[in-house]
Amino acid sequence: MLIRILYVSRAVGPQTTALTGSILTASLEHNKLHGITGVLCQGQGFFLQVLEGDRSAVNRLYGRILADKRHQDVEILLMEEITERSFGNWSMAHVHLSDMDPMVTLKLPEFAPYSATGAQAMALITELLASGHPITRPVL
Ligand code: FAD
Repeated sequence: MLIRILYVSRAVGPQTTALTGSILTASLEHNKLHGITGVLCQGQGFFLQVLEGDRSAVNRLYGRILADKRHQDVEILLMEEITERSFGNWSMAHVHLSDMDPMVTLKLPEFAPYSATGAQAMALITELLASGHPITRPVL
C-alpha cells in the first residue's frame, strides 16, 4: 500500500549547505533502496518534506527523521493513501523556500507552515518545484 506524508519542522541551527548536503546524501542512498520518493523544501528556518512510498517503509523512515536532532517540532500536515506518486521521479528533490516566485507569494500570501492545511502546503511545494530552481536527482 502506497502512502504520502507531508510534515513541517524547525531547523536546529543554521540551514547550511553542509547540513543540506548530509541530509540529501543519506536520503538519496536510503530512499532509493527502500522505494521512497519525495521532495525536501527548506528555508526560513523550516523544513517541509513529502515522503511517498510503501506504508511500512515510509513509517520506518519517518521514525528515524523524527529522532533526528538536527530539527525539532516535527508536525504532520498531511497523511494519505495514494494510488500513484506525485513526486515519483525523484529519490529526493530539493528546493529552497527562498526560490519562491513573486507569483507564488501572491497566490499563497503569508504562508505559515504550522498553520497551513496539508493542501496548502502541497500547493506550495508543487508551485516551488514548477517555478523555483529544484535540484532533482532521478530515480534510476
Ligand atoms: P545515523 O546516521 O546513525 O545518525 C543518528 C543521528 O545523528 C541522527 O538522527 C542525527 O541526529 C545525527 N546525525 C546524523 N548525521 C549527521 C550529520 N552529518 N551531522 C550532524 N548530526 C548528524 N534520511 C533519509 O534516509 N531519507 C530522507 O528522506 C531524509 N530526510 C530528512 C529530512 C530532514 C529534515 C532531516 C533533518 C533528516 C532527514 N534524513 C533523511 C536523515 C535521517 O533523519 C537520518 O539521519 C538518516 O536516515 C540516517 O539514519 P540513522 O538511523 O542511520 O542515523
